[in-house]
Order: sequence, then C-alpha cells, then structure tokens
Amino acid sequence: MEKDYYKILGVEKSATQDEIKKAYYKLAHEHHPDKKGGNEARFKEVNEAYQTLSDKDKRSQYDQFGSSFNNQGGFGFNQNINWEDVMGGFGGGGIEDLFDIFGGAFGGQKQNKRDLRKGRNVEIGIDLELESILRPQERELRVMKNIRCSRCNGSGAEPGTSVRECVTCRGTGRIQQIKKTFLGTISQYTTCTECAGEGVKPEKPCNVCRGEGRVKGEERIRITIPAGVDNNQIIKVKGKGEAGKRGGEPGDLYIRIFIKPHSVFERRGDDIYLNQSITFSQAALGDKLKIPTLDKENLIIKIPAGLTDGNILKISRGGIPHFSGVSRGNLYIQLSLDIPDRLTKKQKEALEELKKQGL
Ligand SMILES: [Zn+2]
Ligand SMILES: [Zn+2]
Repeated sequence: MEKDYYKILGVEKSATQDEIKKAYYKLAHEHHPDKKGGNEARFKEVNEAYQTLSDKDKRSQYDQFGSSFNNQGGFGFNQNINWEDVMGGFGGGGIEDLFDIFGGAFGGQKQNKRDLRKGRNVEIGIDLELESILRPQERELRVMKNIRCSRCNGSGAEPGTSVRECVTCRGTGRIQQIKKTFLGTISQYTTCTECAGEGVKPEKPCNVCRGEGRVKGEERIRITIPAGVDNNQIIKVKGKGEAGKRGGEPGDLYIRIFIKPHSVFERRGDDIYLNQSITFSQAALGDKLKIPTLDKENLIIKIPAGLTDGNILKISRGGIPHFSGVSRGNLYIQLSLDIPDRLTKKQKEALEELKKQGL
C-alpha cells in the first residue's frame, strides 16, 4: 500500500522544512525503541518519512510519484535500521539536535569497556603577544594532569602481578539481576561495582597509583603554534590530555589561544589598524612619517599633500600572516587631524596670516 509520509509525520502537504523537522523530532522521540513505551515499527516509519520529506529532491519526487519510487530509485530505505546510518543520513545540522533530544539514551549504550577507561580531555589557555604570532613558534608547556603511573607502566597492577578478569561479573562488566514482579520476571543489568564495569581488575593494585594506572603529575609538552593564530582559536594535540585509566586511551589536549590586546594596533581579521595623527601643515603639504609596524622596525612612509582627517593609508602585507601560511594581511593607517587647542603667539600670527590668504 502507498504510504502517506505527510500523514505519518502528521503535517500538511504544504509543511515547511522546519515544521517537518519539528514533527519528526517529536515523533522520533516518542517512539524511540530505547524508550519505555517506544515502538520500533512506528519509529522506522517516521524515519522513512523524514528521510524523504527532509530532502528537497526526494520530496518533490515523492509528491509526483508517491512512495513507490523508493523501491526503484537509488535511495531505497534500509529496513535494518542502523543508528550510524540514520545519523549520517541526516546530514547538516540535524545531528547535534538529535543527540540533545535522546540525551542519555545514547550515552550509556554506546560506551564500551574501553571508553570507560579513556582519559579526559584537558583544556589550557596561553597568552600570546600580537607580535609573536608573525611566525610559528615552539613552546614548551607544563601541564598538570593525570599522567601514566611509572611504577606499573599504566597497568594498575603491582609489578610482578597481573590484571585479571573480574570474578564478580566474569569479565562482562555487568551484573544481571532477576526481579520477580506480578507481571513476570524482569531481568535487569547493572554495572559491576567490583570492577566499575571494566570487566578486569588488577590482581594486586599498584602501590603508587592504587590500581588506577595513573597519578597526578606534570607533563612537559612541546608544541608549535602556527603563525597567524586568532584569539580564542583552539589547537588540538591528540593524545596529550589525561592518561587513561589502566592503559585506556588518553584524552586530548586543547590549547586555547588568548591574544593580548596591543597598545598600538587593533586587529581585525588578519589586518591591523593604526591611528596616526598628523598636523594641519603635514596634511596640507605632505610629509614623511615614522610609523611603528608589527615587525618592530619603524617604517618611514611618505604621505602626499592634501590628505584629510579620516583618510586611510594601506601598507600591503604589513598585517598578520594568514593562517594558511601564504601571505599576510595589511596594515592600515587611519589618519586623524591634530588640531591644537593651544597655540603660541607666533603660531597664532602665522595662522592669522594664512586666514587672510583664504586658508
Ligand atoms: Zn601504578
Ligand atoms: Zn566486574
């Protein structure tokens, strides 16, 4: 029988993408098979409808030819629904939203024993001067975190002893409990407390780390900060976060860059701006100006006669190196006219003279 995808999602034929998405989220949440009272068949149906109606091309084909095109077309719906496929299938923005809706439902289920031992990610911040990002720089960072225990080499077992399968849960990490209720017997699984769900336990815990396989300590990490980094940019160093528990995978290190405000330059993207005041006579006659640059050498520039307040001069490639490593932004010099609020007698006379001449 022909399926009415609009009816399945409970929306009008003229529904917007937003309305379709909303309806889908609501229904998918309601019928999610991991949920109490969930309905797998309904859930699949809702997914099928959404996969078609959320895609502009598929939707217009469906509107024209109905759902039968699904079976012949190149994008038949897979009945053996696989979570990764569904997640991947949404494309674009939907993925994070879905995680939000289902929240905890995913977390516990997808995590395997190895994940339980994974070390946490560590985030640290470093302050940089604007001048220092002109070229890549090597830095040695000292990071306080959980590091691998050197006594047991991360295994958590006292040297000479081994890590064994947990006796309590027989290595499964879970304990089955059978409950009798008036509806019948219900079997429930809980995490094994003896091994914290890992399925293994050191025979004799290491004296230093007490079986954790890691201890508090400092690691020195050498990194290269690329030229042109931006404020708040994060550099990820894989595997340099906290050591995993008992040989688990380490977390990652995230280094957040803070660029200190500069006393002279203002950064806008990869360009930098400098305010430079000029006098009335410099504006009228033109002059040579000594200006600071990020590269520290003072640059002498020639300004032409006739510039006024607000004019901007550009020095190509005087800015920040592009993060891509190719070329640099520009330096812009914003001119402002410096009108003195106090004049000497002589200056006043000279200006009076100019005034007479119409200046
Ligand atoms: Zn140890
Ligand atoms: Zn156990």
